[in-house]
Amino acid sequence: MIQNIIKLTKKLIKFRTTEDNRKVKTNCLNFIIKYLSKNTLLSIKKIKTSTGNAIFVTNMRKNPQLCLNGHIDVVPARLEDYKPKIKTNKIFGRGAIDMKGAVAVMIEVMRRLKKTAPPMALILVDDEEQSVGKSTYEIIEKTKIKPLFTMVGEQTDFNIVTKQKGTINLCIVSKGKSAHGAEPQKGINAITQLMDTLKKIDTWPIFKKTAGYRPTCVISTIQGGEATNSVPCCAQAAVNIRYTQNWEAEEIKKKIEKIKNRKILIHAQFKPCMMTDAGNKYVERLKTITRKLLKKDVDIKASSTGSDAKYFSQAGLPVVVFGPIGKNYHADQEWVEIEGLKKYYSILNSFIYDKTI
Ligand SMILES: [Zn+2]
Repeated sequence: MIQNIIKLTKKLIKFRTTEDNRKVKTNCLNFIIKYLSKNTLLSIKKIKTSTGNAIFVTNMRKNPQLCLNGHIDVVPARLEDYKPKIKTNKIFGRGAIDMKGAVAVMIEVMRRLKKTAPPMALILVDDEEQSVGKSTYEIIEKTKIKPLFTMVGEQTDFNIVTKQKGTINLCIVSKGKSAHGAEPQKGINAITQLMDTLKKIDTWPIFKKTAGYRPTCVISTIQGGEATNSVPCCAQAAVNIRYTQNWEAEEIKKKIEKIKNRKILIHAQFKPCMMTDAGNKYVERLKTITRKLLKKDVDIKASSTGSDAKYFSQAGLPVVVFGPIGKNYHADQEWVEIEGLKKYYSILNSFIYDKTI
């Protein structure tokens, strides 16, 4: 069985599923559909969304008890990174840990799903790495599923992540009035006006500069000015804010509204945060099973990075990020541990079939 998972992970890595390669992403999804179709208990649908494509698989029962979620797209890499290699019990290649290894396990679990399994669903999307990607959200909406519990298979080294930050991207445009550089009194300087605004935002008390799981703010890009000897009439900046709870987003929203005026235009794009009660009974169950199989303690964690788990939280559904062991996502020498994939498979199967826990 582990041989199947290794083979499948390697096969998935070979598909160069980057944002610009729509055709390869489609080929990859079609390959998965064909692979899964060997299990006649499954209903397999390919669904087009406004930002990509997805596969929605169920065992044709009522509302799913467990939903597995993953993405098959990757961030760009050197060509050689799409040729998977095995070294020291690790599979190396782009997407190995983010997250084709986990996806291979999820596919294998579904392909071997037995009649005795509870209602299950698998959602695989091809646009998680894109900032606009929201296929997972649209699949939840379109299929109207309300899984009792969902696992997103991003890397967690077998810890259970129940919280992830939400994002607010601000685009701030400052409108001034141009004048000759020698007569600044006749103009309005868009750059200094923008700087004042940025300073205000950056020093909001909600962004405490202490370490830990807290809201943060980064002024990430800035442009402005037309010529060395002119008062700038236009300047703009991007600000990347991360928040940990919904009330913080509401507070930030109110503050933004107060700052906006005729000269300072602000466009804000909100992305939800992920929040699941750590005492949820399925979180407990996952923790017990993982501890038992790994024979070591498992942490319940918060994480600063985001994932598609946010869309389940947005829909009010309990979700965790839970994945195997690996390193170097979005970087050279990305790998997933083979032993970890084997354990991941066992944990998922125990979660599905073991009635004693
Ligand atoms: Zn990922």
